Amino acid sequence: MDTLRGGTSGERGGDVVADDARAGAPGAADDGGHLAHNYRPLPVRIANGEGAWVRDVAGIEYLDFLAGYSALNFGHRHPALVAAAKAQLDRLTLTSRAFRHDGLEVFADRLAGLVGPLLRPAPGGEPTLVLPMNTGAEAVETAVKAARKWGYDVRGVPDDRATIVVAAGNFHGRTTTVVSFSTDDDARRGFGPYTPGFRVVPYGDAAAVAAAIDETTVAVLLEPIQGEAGVIVPPPDYLPAVRTVCDEAGVLLVADEIQSGLGRTGATLACELVGVRPDLVCLGKALGGGIVPVSAVVGRGDVLGVLTPGTHGSTFGGNPLATAVGTAVVDLLATGEMQARAARLGARMQERLARMAATGLAAEVRGVGLWAGVDVPEGRGTGRDLAERLLARRVLVKDTHGRTVRLSPPIVIGRGDLDWALDQVADALAG
Ligand SMILES: *Cc1c(COP(=O)(O)O)cnc(C)c1O
Repeated sequence: MDTLRGGTSGERGGDVVADDARAGAPGAADDGGHLAHNYRPLPVRIANGEGAWVRDVAGIEYLDFLAGYSALNFGHRHPALVAAAKAQLDRLTLTSRAFRHDGLEVFADRLAGLVGPLLRPAPGGEPTLVLPMNTGAEAVETAVKAARKWGYDVRGVPDDRATIVVAAGNFHGRTTTVVSFSTDDDARRGFGPYTPGFRVVPYGDAAAVAAAIDETTVAVLLEPIQGEAGVIVPPPDYLPAVRTVCDEAGVLLVADEIQSGLGRTGATLACELVGVRPDLVCLGKALGGGIVPVSAVVGRGDVLGVLTPGTHGSTFGGNPLATAVGTAVVDLLATGEMQARAARLGARMQERLARMAATGLAAEVRGVGLWAGVDVPEGRGTGRDLAERLLARRVLVKDTHGRTVRLSPPIVIGRGDLDWALDQVADALAG
């Protein structure tokens, strides 16, 4: 893995700022024409990618320190994932769920094998079920629907009264229902009327979760670490306490591991790090190997089992190309090497970032594994400014919420490349 491209990083240090005028060049990448304006990308136009590196249309190479918000956990064009996709492209790409195909149960079995042991077992011993969808938001919608239907069918909650407790600062996607319980004004305002049935409590406060639960509550939906909010790591006793609250109240704990899961934190699920087993888990992003959108809800057979033919579905969910790639992703994670690598390199990254915070270069750093939020000190510009300074130094990152930059390099990044990029982060924070 270290040899993907990273071996040359030593040379990169010398010439990286030669081109920094490009970073601010107007129109370099954002003169969208007919493109809708729902993003404000950094001015770089990428044409190639391999491992942790991308190359722009002018041939300049950048280290990808965002990795598609964790959709590229295994880097660009991981050979095993590309091979699986190519083989599938030559055979069968789409059937719809009206018919079976030969890769669907294989995917479900492998994913259940990887994730099932990390989940709360069903009380009646029902096997773990996998419900494949496409995007992360659809996985969250699926979990919401399953939890509600379980509440009505199994828990006897009065019709249309189900509530779900969620956390302030959440990011679960962009659908109308999901933005209904967002606390981010940009994400929510202007898109009402909002879907009722959600109660928002402060993140990191298990007593607030307990206080929000009543006889209508079917689930607590949380990110074990809040990614979009700036990599907010809750106190270590938070999720275990929420688990206890859920058990006592008989409600489901639904973990949105779309960004935190599949290796990012050094474990298959971030919930593992604090010894918590959710009832349902939402997966996405890295499940598609950076090739196609693949998401899934994995969980207790008695809960997902309430969804019967006709009650839920997706034209593309579980399609042959998606399951071929998804199965190859599960195979990459099955040995534990990716998770161990993320833990090992992540410890190095966190240690270096902690030093930047200790010396005042950063106002605060938070993180676990190969995932961190770095806050720019007051008076030293915005997160966007830091992202632009890093672009000039050939490191791609993305700001979030004002003063924060999120770091989430691909797990396949070389150790030398990681060190080089962190040198750039330190220099960009200093200048
Ligand atoms: C990205 C993300 C989503 C939404 O995924 P999409 O594929 O963009 O719909 C949901 N939850 C979390 C935690 C995410 O990071």
